[in-house]
Amino acid sequence: DSTKPNNFIHQIIEDDLAQGLNGGKVITRFPPEPNGYLHIGHAKSICLNFGTAQRFNGQCNLRFDDTNPEKESQEYIDSIIEDVRWLGFQWSGDICYSSDYFDQLYDWALHLIKAGKAYVDSLSAHEMREFRGTLVEPGKNSPYRERSVEENLELFEKMRKGDFEEGECVLRAKIDMASPNINMRDPVVYRIRHAHHHQTGDKWCIYPSYDFTHGQSDALEGITHSICTLEFEDHRPLYDWFIENLPVPARPRQYEFARLGLNYTVTSKRKLKLLVDEGHVEGWNDPRMPTISGMRRRGFTPASIRNFCDMIGVTRANGIVDVGMLESAIRDDLDANAPRAMCVVDPIKVTIANYAESDEEWFELPAHPKDESMGVRKVPFTRNLLIEREDFAEEKPRKWKRMAPGDAVRLRGAYVIRCDEVIKNDQGEVVELVCSYDAATKGQNPTDYKPNGVIHWVSADNSVPCEVRLYDRLFTEANPDGDKERDFHEFMNPESLVVMTGARAEIGLKRAVAESRYQFERTGYFCVDSTSTEDKLVFNRTVTLRDSWAK
Ligand code: ATP
Ligand code: MG
Ligand code: MG
Repeated sequence: DSTKPNNFIHQIIEDDLAQGLNGGKVITRFPPEPNGYLHIGHAKSICLNFGTAQRFNGQCNLRFDDTNPEKESQEYIDSIIEDVRWLGFQWSGDICYSSDYFDQLYDWALHLIKAGKAYVDSLSAHEMREFRGTLVEPGKNSPYRERSVEENLELFEKMRKGDFEEGECVLRAKIDMASPNINMRDPVVYRIRHAHHHQTGDKWCIYPSYDFTHGQSDALEGITHSICTLEFEDHRPLYDWFIENLPVPARPRQYEFARLGLNYTVTSKRKLKLLVDEGHVEGWNDPRMPTISGMRRRGFTPASIRNFCDMIGVTRANGIVDVGMLESAIRDDLDANAPRAMCVVDPIKVTIANYAESDEEWFELPAHPKDESMGVRKVPFTRNLLIEREDFAEEKPRKWKRMAPGDAVRLRGAYVIRCDEVIKNDQGEVVELVCSYDAATKGQNPTDYKPNGVIHWVSADNSVPCEVRLYDRLFTEANPDGDKERDFHEFMNPESLVVMTGARAEIGLKRAVAESRYQFERTGYFCVDSTSTEDKLVFNRTVTLRDSWAK
């Protein structure tokens, strides 16, 4: 229900609007740092920021928070733009970069210095840490804290010109070394980085800190509600301090919400980058990754991700969401919208002895059992068929509803067949089932016996070979990050990918294009991989039909 305020941010905004704040405008922003690919946690922030703007007829900017040039790259920028679009959102106006404001931020640093509110500190990083104090112990003033305005201006100019090495000095705001909030103990405003920047090239060798950049960028863009995650709550007094002590053109406010954590995975760009760099996965878009590009390749739809974000809501309570919720969001979407098809993932040969080699008939099956508008598909029935190896049991367990020697089963949408003979190879493995079909069972049930169940099948003569990649969770432990003693690598699932190279799908899938999604009947939901070609068709399992993990 889109009319009910289902999150506290919307409630705050409604109150602000009722008071006539910000001239009735709502402007938000999504501010990723381009130091990795976006993950499901970012999707929550995207849905919140863009969704809030939509709800209140406002605007949402896409702003790259690019103040750490060494860790950032154009590749990450491009992937982020693509992911935001794919999720279905459009930012207002041009894409913004914090680096667009470096000149202005530099001027504002000068403004602070001239007002006696910032100084160049020449303590080493180590000394600065010592002087900073702890939660229970106040910090100590740096011996450089009382430098004159003139000296600070001169030193800051030298910093800018590149006269210092990295770490030789920093510009700090002069606030309060005894503040109970460590963020207020003279935070760093500018630091030296002799690094090439993806947007500004070699123009700068000093870069503003996150805290000095974020709120001021918000003010420059006229952001009304600057929504960020809870770990920035302690930074809010600093956010406000800069806004109050600088001649900024607007008065943005910061609000915090809880980060999204998901079980059986990690949601930290740093850790995801490790998985990529160490080769545990194929890349940032590996279908096992909780990245947006990985989920896309896995077969998630944008709507399922948006629905999931709606479902989990927005609160101020940190917690870990069960990945089962995400899986059920995509299951619901695909159940309603994915056409059905048959694919035998691990085939065993079936020969219909009483069906002529030269015969072939086409059966018509609905593309979707509950949605006639999706039309029909046609599958050929021939003498040589394939069924799933796990649908046959030589010694059938109790309540077996599939194929067994002497038993009859219905082939979905086609005839009832009976298994008359089991052929094995020298190793004793079953290699073929010789069966007979009951010609009277086309579209009707036999009257004198009852088939043992319904199984899926394809024609061996007229189907399409494909590779099926069965993906599972990346970690075997619900909270791979939760054990301080043990590294998350220890909990990697060795069976997170099982590749089935001998699968065969019904012939209609021959030209299925990347990202088309299907329900393979009785097997799960699958999506054509982005690397798939007509010569080598590859399907990724998005999710099983039912939640099969809890066994
Ligand atoms: P990471 O720890 O994965 O590097 P980050 O917060 O450093 O994440 P940013 O690029 O700065 O990554 O994130 C952009 C926006 O997305 C920020 O506003 C941030 O608060 C939000 N965000 C990041 N991770 C999550 C998450 N797990 N849940 C909700 N929002 C998140
Ligand atoms: Mg960040
Ligand atoms: Mg980060």
